[in-house]
Amino acid sequence: MQTLWFIFRHLDQFRLPFFGNLLVAFLDGLVVFLIPVLLSEFTKGDLSVESFWRLLPFLVGCFLASLVLQWIIRRSGEALARQFGNHLRLKYFQQIEQLPGALLLEHHSGNLLSLVTRACDGAAQVVFAAVWLFAHSLATLSLFFFFTARESLFIALLNGCILILFLLVSVFFSRRMVPIAARLNLLHAVLIERFVDLMTNIFTVKKLGISRFTTSQVSEAVEQNYRQIDRLQRFHADRWFVLHAIFGIAFLTTIGFLLSQISQGENSPAVLILFISAFAVVRSQVERLSELIKDLLEVNAYIETLETITGREQRQEERGSECPLQWNALELQEVTFSYRGRGATLNVPHFSLSPGEVISIRGESGEGKSTFLNILCNFLEPQRGERLLDRRPYAEFPRNRLESLFGMVSQEMELFHLSVRENLSLGRPHKDEQIRTILRGLLLEEWLEQLPEGLDTLVGEKGVKLSAGQKQRVNIARGLLLERPILLFDEPTSHLDKETEQGVVDFLRGQLKGRSAVIVTHRSAVETLCDRGYVVREGTLIEE
Ligand code: ADP
Ligand code: MG
Repeated sequence: MQTLWFIFRHLDQFRLPFFGNLLVAFLDGLVVFLIPVLLSEFTKGDLSVESFWRLLPFLVGCFLASLVLQWIIRRSGEALARQFGNHLRLKYFQQIEQLPGALLLEHHSGNLLSLVTRACDGAAQVVFAAVWLFAHSLATLSLFFFFTARESLFIALLNGCILILFLLVSVFFSRRMVPIAARLNLLHAVLIERFVDLMTNIFTVKKLGISRFTTSQVSEAVEQNYRQIDRLQRFHADRWFVLHAIFGIAFLTTIGFLLSQISQGENSPAVLILFISAFAVVRSQVERLSELIKDLLEVNAYIETLETITGREQRQEERGSECPLQWNALELQEVTFSYRGRGATLNVPHFSLSPGEVISIRGESGEGKSTFLNILCNFLEPQRGERLLDRRPYAEFPRNRLESLFGMVSQEMELFHLSVRENLSLGRPHKDEQIRTILRGLLLEEWLEQLPEGLDTLVGEKGVKLSAGQKQRVNIARGLLLERPILLFDEPTSHLDKETEQGVVDFLRGQLKGRSAVIVTHRSAVETLCDRGYVVREGTLIEE
C-alpha cells in the first residue's frame, strides 16, 4: 500500500527503533496468546493440584515477559509516532518551501496547513498502530489458527473464512468512506482557511467593526462541516453494525459447534476455554485492524494530494552549477508573464542590470511592477522569454544560489512573530552594533530606545506593535542586513512622511554604494538614487 511505502521511505532516523519495536510487539503478541493456550492445555485432563502448581510458574512467567516487553515498547516506542509525525511535518515544510511561487499562489496556506496536519497526524497514527497492532495481530492470528486447527480443523477453516470476509467487507466500507472523508477534509480546509485568514487578521476585523460579517463567514463553513460530519457518522454507524454482525456470527456459530461436540464427547470443555479467551484477544485486534484500514486509506488520500502538489518540483533542486556571487550582467529578453487564468500579461521586451547600477521602475497601480520584481528574483517564472545571468538562463542555476543573489524588500512588510533582533538578523550572526547602525540610519533609533526590551522586544503578530512607517523601515533594515548583491525594493517609502523619506534616502545612498538595486517607486526623492529608469505602461516595461 502506498501509505506504508511512503512511511517506510520517510522513516529515516526512526527506522531502527521502529523495526525494533515492531519485533518486540510481535513477541508480546506471542506471549499474550500463550496464556489461553496454557490454560487450555492444563485443564484438558481435570485440573489437579500438581498441574495447578506446574501451571502457575508458566502463567506468571508469561505475565512478566509480557509486562517487560510492553515496558520496552513504552520506553522506546510510544513517543516514536509523535516524533515521526513532527519529522514528517518538517520534511513537508521543506518541500513546500521549495515550491515555485506561482504554484504556491494557487494554494491557500490554510489548505496546505490542513493537508499537512492530517497527513502527518494520520501517518503518526499508522506508525503507532503498526508498532502495536500489526505485530500483535500477526502473532496472535497465526497462533489462533494454529491452535484451533489442532483442536478442530473445521473451526479454524470457518473462522478463517469469516475473518477474510470481515477484512473484505472492511476494505469495501473503507474505500467507500474515503470520498466522504476527502470531502470532509476539503470542507475542513475551507473552514481552516477562513478561520486562519480571519484570526490572523483579527485586529483588522476589530478595527473595521465587521464581526457580524466575519462570524457569518465562519459559521457558514462550520455549518457545511456539520452536515458532512453527520454523513460520515451515519456511514460509520452502518459500517460498525455490519462488521459486528459478522463477528457475532463467527463467535456464536463456533460456540454452538463446540458445545455440540462437547455434548457428544468429541471434544473437551478445555477447548471452549481456549476458544473463548483467544477469541477475546483476537477480536479486539481484528476490530482495530479494520479501523486501521480505514485510517490508512484516508491518510493515503491526503498524502496523494500533497505529493501531487509537491511532487513536480523535487528534481529541480539537484541540477545546475554553482551560482557565481560575482556577476557581470543580468538580462531579460522578450519575457511574457500572466497569472494563471487571467488575461492580463506583463511584457518585458528588454531589461538589463549591471553591477553597481540602481534602476527605478514607475507605473500605475496594477500595471505589474511587483510582478516584475517577483520575476526578477525568480519567485515567479515567466511563460516565455529568457532571464539570463552572465548569459546563462536562470534555470541552469540551483534555486538557492539564485535566491542568495537577491534581497527583496517587498510591499507586504510581513514581520514574523519574533523579537526585533530575530526579525532583522534572520539567523545570521549580526552584531548588535551593526543592527543599531542600520536602524539609526533609518531614523529608528528613538523608537528602539523606547522599546521595553530593546532589540529583544517581540514585534507582535505580523509586526502589529509597529506603525506602518516603522514596519516599512524595519523591512528595509532586514533587506539591507541580508547583504545580498542585488536589492529589490517595492515602494520602500510609501508609508513615510517627506522628512523621514529624505533621511532614509540619504542613508540608502551610502548603503547602495557598490551594490545593485531595482526600486519600484513614485517618489522623486527616491528616484534621485537611480541611474536609469523604466516604466510599465499598458502592461509593457520600457526604458525611459
Ligand atoms: P503593481 O505592483 O504594479 O501595482 P502587481 O504586479 O501587484 O501590480 O499586479 C499586476 C496585476 O496582476 C494586477 O492586475 C493584479 O490584479 C494581478 N495580480 C497580482 N497578483 C496576482 C495573483 N497572485 N494572481 C492573479 N493576479 C494577480
Ligand atoms: Mg505593487
